Amino acid sequence: ESQLNPNYSFENFLEGDSNRLARSAGLAVAAKPGGTSFNPLLVFGGVGLGKTHLAHAIGVDIKDKYPEKTVLYISAEKFTQQYIDAVKKNNRNDFIHFYQIIDVLIIDDVQFLSGKTGTQDVFFHIFNHLHQNGKQVILTSDKAPVDMQDIEQRLLSRFKWGLSAELQNPDFETRVSILKNKLYRDGVEMPEDIIDYVAKNIKSNVRELEGAIISLIAQSSFNKKEITIDLARIIVEKFVKNTKREVSIDYIQKVVSDYFQMDIDTLQSKTRKRHIVQARQLAMFFAKKFTKASLASIGSQIGKRDHATVLHACKTVDNLSSTDKQFRKYVEDITKKLSI
Ligand code: ADP
Ligand code: MG
Repeated sequence: ESQLNPNYSFENFLEGDSNRLARSAGLAVAAKPGGTSFNPLLVFGGVGLGKTHLAHAIGVDIKDKYPEKTVLYISAEKFTQQYIDAVKKNNRNDFIHFYQIIDVLIIDDVQFLSGKTGTQDVFFHIFNHLHQNGKQVILTSDKAPVDMQDIEQRLLSRFKWGLSAELQNPDFETRVSILKNKLYRDGVEMPEDIIDYVAKNIKSNVRELEGAIISLIAQSSFNKKEITIDLARIIVEKFVKNTKREVSIDYIQKVVSDYFQMDIDTLQSKTRKRHIVQARQLAMFFAKKFTKASLASIGSQIGKRDHATVLHACKTVDNLSSTDKQFRKYVEDITKKLSI
């Protein structure tokens, strides 16, 4: 049993700038599993951006092209559970052997392995065996390898061997085509302006985008109401309210620089003046705390720094807020400003 969902196909995975690299890497892997330098292929990105869908699509496509290959999809959570059960039943070796003879192993949400040293250890051995034998490994994660915490270094370094491809928030056009494709597949007609309205207002999660449309269709057929912009507004609002709003890195930079009465260019500048460095470090710290952006992406948006600088900034802020009273007040004040 491959555990693959045939509905999660490449055909149904709409292409856009936000997913082009990951999607085409997936296609390349599916054409030649184990035969490209994308091994492992690691797909990372935020919630609801299509990691699970894409992981299945690769598996489904491989099964299609190479029916003789064994393909297995499993979530890291289930993998961990299986491993714990195997250890309890004294079947550790059988467990390892089972995974070592698979041709294509797809593990979803590897961030779940954080802190689970036993499972990481066994996965390390399985991974090495598969990789040495030219078998394909496909992983997904909510973070880039550089941002993963509590994963052993030797495993992280293997995650970086192949290709890490990010799924970003889809742009407006991609959101519209995803909605249209969904409606088409469900055989539902929907006025263009309603589709536009939903796509305009739900930006950062494809699952919510689809959820809003499904609930709109349900509402209208249930209450025999026509689908109007007003109905769309009510439903979209519910979806947007239910999801915690994420502050943007731009907004954080604005709040921090306003707080210290400097402009954003100063905050981002190369100067080593202490109060400016501290303001910049605070902006990085809050970006890490309040957004899902990777360290690399935070660094590039806050004055074109690298991920190590951001990591250092976060540690410095942590240290200073526990040793320096004035600094702790900065952190508290800015936290309040960002929370409203
Ligand atoms: P993740 O695993 O990243 O949280 P999922 O793979 O579960 O996200 O995707 C959430 C929903 O959005 C699924 O129903 C999936 O089919 C859909 N989806 C995501 N990206 C796309 C895309 N590019 N085209 C079509 N549907 C998509
Ligand atoms: Mg998923």
